[in-house]
Amino acid sequence: MKFGRYDCAAVEMDAFLLDGGAMFGVVPKTLWEKKIPADLQNRIPMTARSLIIRGHNRTILVDAGIGDKLSAKLKKVFGMGKTPGSMDARLAALGLTAEDITDVVLTHLHFDHAGGCTAVQNNAIVPAFPHATYHIQKSQWELACHPSLRDRSGFIADDFMPLYAQKVLNIIDGPTDDLFEGICLMVTHGHTAGQQHPLIKGDGRSLFFCADLIPTAAHLPLTWHMGYDNLPLTLLEEKRQVLKRALSEDWILCFPHDPRVAAAFISGKVERAEIKETVSLKFEH
Ligand SMILES: [Zn+2]
Repeated sequence: MKFGRYDCAAVEMDAFLLDGGAMFGVVPKTLWEKKIPADLQNRIPMTARSLIIRGHNRTILVDAGIGDKLSAKLKKVFGMGKTPGSMDARLAALGLTAEDITDVVLTHLHFDHAGGCTAVQNNAIVPAFPHATYHIQKSQWELACHPSLRDRSGFIADDFMPLYAQKVLNIIDGPTDDLFEGICLMVTHGHTAGQQHPLIKGDGRSLFFCADLIPTAAHLPLTWHMGYDNLPLTLLEEKRQVLKRALSEDWILCFPHDPRVAAAFISGKVERAEIKETVSLKFEH
């Protein structure tokens, strides 16, 4: 789908399961299970969705999914038995190879967004996209390198330390619209410090990558957010600002973890926004 001179497509990197209670925080189960039913272990289906933005001589990957490095034990915990194919296969479906990726924008470094950044080759862990520069916010990088007790289980050093060792990181301090022409990088802190969100601006329509600010369409109501969020009140204010602009500027929102809804136009009030029209993000050319 075109946004200005960029052609954008969503890619499903991984299917996995997470505890429904953790995904909806203080929202009672009797409410959230009407939107996403849980299995016998209270887990709900999730996807790890990435975005590919092609244009201006660049092929930009936004987030890289879980990747293939998780132990068999963790794969079982996350119900990843049915995970489809390899990174190569996922990209091949779009006519791309790992060599084609010029940039990887990491919204943040939680393992379900950054795991696919690195891969095991000849017993070493190396960047999975050999020609890419990897872009991350400074405050997120610092948190990932020195996580708090609460954050520790979300970050896996093998996902990002090899990027530092290979000198392929670009550490950005704050929001910017200078990195790529026509793409603004917005920054939020409520889910985790320095989460960055690309806003791809086109003529008449724009695409916003929600990352974990709004992980699924079921998280559109303002007060429905994850138990994982570090600063809930900050998140609510950031989400309010994003929803306000999305409604007034008619943005398409891309949800990273919703197995059913990749992206959508929204309508309604800021406190209670809902899907107006779903959008399937596929390349036009
Ligand atoms: Zn996260």
